[in-house]
Amino acid sequence: MLQPQLGPKTTDAVLQNYRLLLERLNAHIQKVEAAFSDQIVCKKGCDACCRFLSLFPVEAFSISHAYSQLPENIKHQINHRLHHHKDACPLLIDHACALYPVRPIICRTHGFPIYIEKNNQVSIDFCPENFKQVITFPEHTLLSIERLNETLIAVNQLFLKSVTPHTHLPDRIPVSQALFILDEF
Ligand code: SF4
Repeated sequence: MLQPQLGPKTTDAVLQNYRLLLERLNAHIQKVEAAFSDQIVCKKGCDACCRFLSLFPVEAFSISHAYSQLPENIKHQINHRLHHHKDACPLLIDHACALYPVRPIICRTHGFPIYIEKNNQVSIDFCPENFKQVITFPEHTLLSIERLNETLIAVNQLFLKSVTPHTHLPDRIPVSQALFILDEF
């Protein structure tokens, strides 16, 4: 397996906090799926939420590590998309994510009820194809996007501390560059 040069640190060590955050998010999503099993139509083949992304360095590193382990034929398809569909996510192959198990956090939240607080106004957002017969959401099924972003920012800062001074990364990295960020290490 390809391991980046991180001095004494390993890939698992620098991604530990990020993976814990993914676990917590996955647990939340499972709770929502259990509460609304007949109201969620998200499935493989629906790519309406997929779009070109910019990622924090910790997420860029995570997908770059996973990309490095893909079979060559899949890498070839991704590279083809990179060059011919510049505005789309290069990981979307035949309407499915080539790195689904390690997809970024934003991709995991799509479609599910998100709680947004702005200018003292609260709103709930979700894919209109889901929850068509739902009138209210129990509190435990709502995800605070602000709290999630704050946690991701904190996790990203810890990641940056753990890899500095081995590398200098921009604040946000387009997915097209993120795939190759391992080369920076
Ligand atoms: S990373 Fe995967 S899930 Fe996210 S936008 Fe790209 S193809 Fe879709």
